Amino acid sequence: MFKLLKTDGQTKARLGQLRTVHGVIDTPIFMPVGTQAAVKTLDPRELRELGAQIILSNTYHLCIRPGMEVMEKMGGLHQFMSWPYPILTDSGGYQVFSLARIRKIKPEGVSFRSHLDGTALFLGPKEAMHMQKVLGSDIAMVLDECPPHTSTQRQLHDAVERTIRWAEHCRQQPRADGQLVFGIVQGAGRPELREQCAKALVSIGFDGYAIGGVSVGETEAEMMKAVEYTEPFLPANQARYAMGLGTPAQIVELVARGVDMFDCVLPTRIARNGAAFTRKGTVNIKAAYCKTDPGPIEEGCTCFACRTFSRAYLRHLINVEEILALRMISVHNCHMYVQLMTDIRRHIAQETFAEFRAEFAWTYVPSKNLRANKSIVAE
Ligand SMILES: [Zn+2]
Repeated sequence: MFKLLKTDGQTKARLGQLRTVHGVIDTPIFMPVGTQAAVKTLDPRELRELGAQIILSNTYHLCIRPGMEVMEKMGGLHQFMSWPYPILTDSGGYQVFSLARIRKIKPEGVSFRSHLDGTALFLGPKEAMHMQKVLGSDIAMVLDECPPHTSTQRQLHDAVERTIRWAEHCRQQPRADGQLVFGIVQGAGRPELREQCAKALVSIGFDGYAIGGVSVGETEAEMMKAVEYTEPFLPANQARYAMGLGTPAQIVELVARGVDMFDCVLPTRIARNGAAFTRKGTVNIKAAYCKTDPGPIEEGCTCFACRTFSRAYLRHLINVEEILALRMISVHNCHMYVQLMTDIRRHIAQETFAEFRAEFAWTYVPSKNLRANKSIVAE
């Protein structure tokens, strides 16, 4: 399924292709996030036009609304949302551990109450894989336990044990035709736990491996370490996916550490605050200096928003709360991420990735709030 085309000579960056039922994706790749079976404010035509090859959707949210009965009757997620291209679904584990109320962890899964209306629900390896089979995603993720960043050594150890046991059960469940299943390495910032978890998952054998338990409140340096502790134990000939990451600068750094796949809500989330990603950092379109700025969000950008509208116009739309502003900044931000990955792949192919990485780090000014995983309000 995964073809490793090239490994960079100076970094651990890799160029590859992953074959799925709904098409081949080029790696390194960015997956826009469609939590509720929609990438916020964008339609499938816009996503294709800006170059998205694969999107991510969240099993937990779809299980709560519209529910699996509806998903089954509607013929699965691709048909339901009119996206005939690859989709990765998570297992729901992350949301159960971060969103759901009153949860009780048992050997066979987690009892919890819906964050919406308090309905009692249960999610175990069997349920997680069954729901992803109904959704019919191209890539399913195993159920894992993602413990809080502040957990004790004992809790982290137990979470790794449970993650391995659940992964084994997930591996044995029926799946949709051709559906790939990825294991998830937990172990927080502990090298010995990361090693133990990665080795156990590799011996079970999955179609790809994710690095989980990152972007859960740790610092950027700790996050990079967690990836470095995990990567050496993952097979070279299979895809590696860093879950929930990251900013453009972090993605470039993670590619250099051997990661192939990324998903992140930032491009659409910060758009809702009027903020845009550029190659030099984030720009606040609400800022006073954009009031009469006739230029696009980013000079030289080829996205529809930049080809069509000025900063002054978008700023006006934000001020009068027109939805078009959110849509256009989302188009630009997703395009920026997708285009960044295209450039990364080109540089790996041409053996100039190390230079590109150095230049990117030099030109890109990271937002302090984003680095600290806080949402941007105004900057
Ligand atoms: Zn643009």
